[in-house]
Amino acid sequence: MPIQLFNTLTRKKEEFKPIKAGEVGIYTCGPTVYNYVHIGNLRTYIFEDILKRVFLYNSFKVRHVMNITDVGHLTGDADSGIDKMLLAAQREKKTAWDVAKFYTREFFKDTGRLNIIKADIVCKATEHIKEMIELIQRLEKKGLTYTAGGNVYYDISKFTDYGKLALLKPEDLKAGARVGVDANKKNPHDFVLWFTKSKFDEQEMKWESPWGKGYPGWHIECSAMSMKYLGEHFDIHCGGIDHIPVHHTNEIAQSEGATGKKWVNYWLHGEFLVLETGRMGKSLGNFITIQKLIDQGFGPLDYRYFCLNAHYRKQLTFTVDALEGAKNAFRRLKERYFEFRKSREKADKAKFKKYEDEFLEAVNNDLNMPQALAILWQVVDDSNLNGAEKRFLMEKFDEVLGLNLKNSKEEVVALSPEARKLIEEREKARKARDWKKSDELRNRLKEIGIQVLDTPEGQKWVAEK
Ligand SMILES: [Zn+2]
Repeated sequence: MPIQLFNTLTRKKEEFKPIKAGEVGIYTCGPTVYNYVHIGNLRTYIFEDILKRVFLYNSFKVRHVMNITDVGHLTGDADSGIDKMLLAAQREKKTAWDVAKFYTREFFKDTGRLNIIKADIVCKATEHIKEMIELIQRLEKKGLTYTAGGNVYYDISKFTDYGKLALLKPEDLKAGARVGVDANKKNPHDFVLWFTKSKFDEQEMKWESPWGKGYPGWHIECSAMSMKYLGEHFDIHCGGIDHIPVHHTNEIAQSEGATGKKWVNYWLHGEFLVLETGRMGKSLGNFITIQKLIDQGFGPLDYRYFCLNAHYRKQLTFTVDALEGAKNAFRRLKERYFEFRKSREKADKAKFKKYEDEFLEAVNNDLNMPQALAILWQVVDDSNLNGAEKRFLMEKFDEVLGLNLKNSKEEVVALSPEARKLIEEREKARKARDWKKSDELRNRLKEIGIQVLDTPEGQKWVAEK
């Protein structure tokens, strides 16, 4: 059963044909490490994780590369605004390097909690300045760049295919200057490859280059690093849909401009997670982190389960009620799994081949996870299958779903006398509205392996993860 994927490049669902039989190279745009990632960002990483797991499920050898943007990304994707790392360094009174280190660690903590498999190669922009400079020089030799006001720009008028991914028309590109556009640009869609001292004198991350001391634009890192680790022509490139019009469009211009040939075969993009009030965004100040959900009594995998209920190309609206619904469904699923896990019966594989086929068809059909989940529930409720058969299928399907069923624990935690005393003390402190003491007791419980959650029905506790 071939894998079918919706290719943004052609706006069609296509059969996936690997460049090298049995292998797939995937590049996914990583985080800009100037703040925590919000759950909207994480939805994209969950979709990419599912994609990777589907290939693994189909016995492909996967080579997954993800970058860490620790330099060069401005608040506006098209070179407008101010440097994100600089912004965070000023906000937190740290160096940009320390900011990057801290949020990179937090990023992997969050993705780990969501059971997202780490990329085979994680590459930092600041460790690939040499490759970026070489790529800019290649573009320069081909006459695709110009220098103005000390910066090096990509001249989009010299690249005939510019805008093919976003289906930009020539008239779109000629549209009058946008508000706040850099006066050095010949065309408002031209973009910076290398900044010199002409912008942000206080920028601490700077390197020597043939164009002066400075730092790279945002887009060049993905072209340089993906080609370094996956070659000049590879299978799949992913990101959020917001990357289509600027970031990925510019990545194509850089890579194909330099090599003169096709760069990526399949482009996949994940839709947004939205709030009822609209988009979530770091810059909008309304972002929800995984930690915030945990503090409200949710498990990280409740959120993963929630995301599986929508197709990655459909917008998903986040509400606490909807997450609560997902949490309850996921809890029921785990409870059934624990029940089947105790089964001493024998599994007869011939009985459930139909489900295996249906599941494979669903996940290979452009990652139809809502369908895959529906099949999983059919298995759970099928009275013709015994416990061992259900357990086998649940564990097998979980290789794609990533809900970590095998390692999930039955949630009743027996309290030691010491823990019981602390919980009671905390109850008193909360009644007396002594939040300081309540927090202290929470920390002491944490130290002995108990995570306390405050719910409308009072304190609940689970084993600390
Ligand atoms: Zn990128």
